[in-house]
Amino acid sequence: MREAGVDVLLLSLGADMPWLIGYEAMPLERITMLVLPADDDATLVVPALEAPRVAHDARLFSLRPWSESEDPIAVIADLVGSRVEMGISDRTWATSLLALQHALPGRRFRPASAVTSALRSVKDPGEIAALRAAGAAADRVADALLGGEIQLIGRREADVSEEIGRRLIAEGHNKVNFAIVGSGPNSASPHHEPGERVIGVGEPVVCDFGGTLRLGDTVGYCSDTTRTVVTGEPDPLFAELYAVLESAQEVAVEGAMIGTTCEAVDALGRDLISRAGFGDGFIHRIGHGIGIEEHETPYLVAGNTTPLQPGHAFSVEPGIYLAGRFGARIEDIVVATEGGPLRCNVSDRGLHVVEA
Ligand code: ZN
Ligand code: ZN
Ligand code: ZN
Repeated sequence: MREAGVDVLLLSLGADMPWLIGYEAMPLERITMLVLPADDDATLVVPALEAPRVAHDARLFSLRPWSESEDPIAVIADLVGSRVEMGISDRTWATSLLALQHALPGRRFRPASAVTSALRSVKDPGEIAALRAAGAAADRVADALLGGEIQLIGRREADVSEEIGRRLIAEGHNKVNFAIVGSGPNSASPHHEPGERVIGVGEPVVCDFGGTLRLGDTVGYCSDTTRTVVTGEPDPLFAELYAVLESAQEVAVEGAMIGTTCEAVDALGRDLISRAGFGDGFIHRIGHGIGIEEHETPYLVAGNTTPLQPGHAFSVEPGIYLAGRFGARIEDIVVATEGGPLRCNVSDRGLHVVEA
């Protein structure tokens, strides 16, 4: 905080507070805020009715419950005192920020991520173990998909999505975050909302899914993996596209070495896809950081010159999409280590013809 010139952090919704103290604020209108001054102890201002949820460790912070008839903004302003440089959670409700700005005139507000995101992006061994456990649980679902255990042909995308979600929980996740199932032409829409479409024979099906898994009583960490299968002999163009994609994913993962910039990892996959003539079909960055949140820093995208450090955890997920026809994506979570890239997802990446 001193390096960033921040006098006090005001953490509310989002992952910063759970990352620091293991407590996640309820996303409701009553404000919860950890007031963390650079020069003093931290205080958690919490609605009195939610205080019993807090596993309070008095060595980390003191608790200041506020009752229904109190003004929590005044309580927070009092704790802030005369400090000027504020870092406030990126996900704080605008109503809270506006009220704080009114109660604390003459202060400078900036996003808390100016302090926290570089710290949170570097995972310690316990966090890497949690990401690997989540990845292994997601891989067991991917194995079921690749092995034809999940019925595809004749079912609606929404039903397959629901089954993937159930399996994520059965394999140890505490929460399902998403389960994209895009079949046929819908496979060309990267963030497709699974719907009524019934999956046919000989179609690509993109399945991108993830959840949050808690190891013991720690805060949960996320999984996120994508596998694309075909329900019968694929179109020759699709087979060609998939082979290019598989090479691009491999090259980008292999290239994710310490010191390589985030944008260089993106370029490794992108150049290979472009040379094969599919460059126009790769319409998103190659990856995003992952941790307590599904998407966090570092983002692997052109323009991000951050060099990879040991402990950086991120997806490598190139995709090629031919609008109106079909598309494919392959995604693994990777941790940068001194020994080279460590994959948290190891289910097979070859093109599987699933006649289920
Ligand atoms: Zn995505
Ligand atoms: Zn994904
Ligand atoms: Zn992803």
